[in-house]
Amino acid sequence: MNIIRQFVKKTIPTVIPRKLYLVHGDADHFDSDTDVGCCKTDSRSLINIAFTFDDGPHPEHTPLLLDVLQKYQQQATFFVIGEKARQYPHLIERIVQEGHEIGNHTLTHSEPAQTSTRSFLKEIQQTDEILEQITGKQVNLVRPPKGKLNLGKLLGLWRQQRTVVLWDTDPRDYLMNDHSEIINWCHNYQPDSGNFCLMHDNHPYAIEAVHQLSEHQQARIQSHPVSRWIENKALQPTRTQQACA
Ligand SMILES: [Zn+2]
Repeated sequence: MNIIRQFVKKTIPTVIPRKLYLVHGDADHFDSDTDVGCCKTDSRSLINIAFTFDDGPHPEHTPLLLDVLQKYQQQATFFVIGEKARQYPHLIERIVQEGHEIGNHTLTHSEPAQTSTRSFLKEIQQTDEILEQITGKQVNLVRPPKGKLNLGKLLGLWRQQRTVVLWDTDPRDYLMNDHSEIINWCHNYQPDSGNFCLMHDNHPYAIEAVHQLSEHQQARIQSHPVSRWIENKALQPTRTQQACA
């Protein structure tokens, strides 16, 4: 079953428009020399990726994560749970105010195998309403819990023209018990442009991961919100210039 899932995960992005289904970004989507002019002293190669954080917002970890993202001028995408967004609306507001993006991760994070298509789509709709009430904006990105969808759920989302966002890089921070584990993972990580990295802000290790990855030895890692990877290449502003100012 796992092999079939892997096959589907790899095959769909090659035949479906990225507006509907994203597992990673195009490696050459961002110009690699976007910010050459102001960062000449940094000899590391620039690698553009997407940090994505699921299962928040969390009252303790999310503010610290936002602090470290701000410190390194990284922009990320938060796939939030509707119930938690309703509980901590100020964190949703802060996420948006600081230039990050919000995605829909269902209302309760219900177990995919035990959630009907109808309930799943209802949870998506309820979360849309909560997020729209807080931010005043419609949310387009959806990440299903555990990345699992059946055909009915997938088609239900596509009927709404939603972008389903999965990932290609997973440190499994939710299984870690110690900071040394995430530090080791970051040291061994060989980043590729276009990587979508899955982390969790209801656990503490994403905070250290952003710190470690931003200080990566071999590469200067710049994270962009997921929607930036869907935009036309020609439309990109040179945001990374700010990071060097
Ligand atoms: Zn989740």
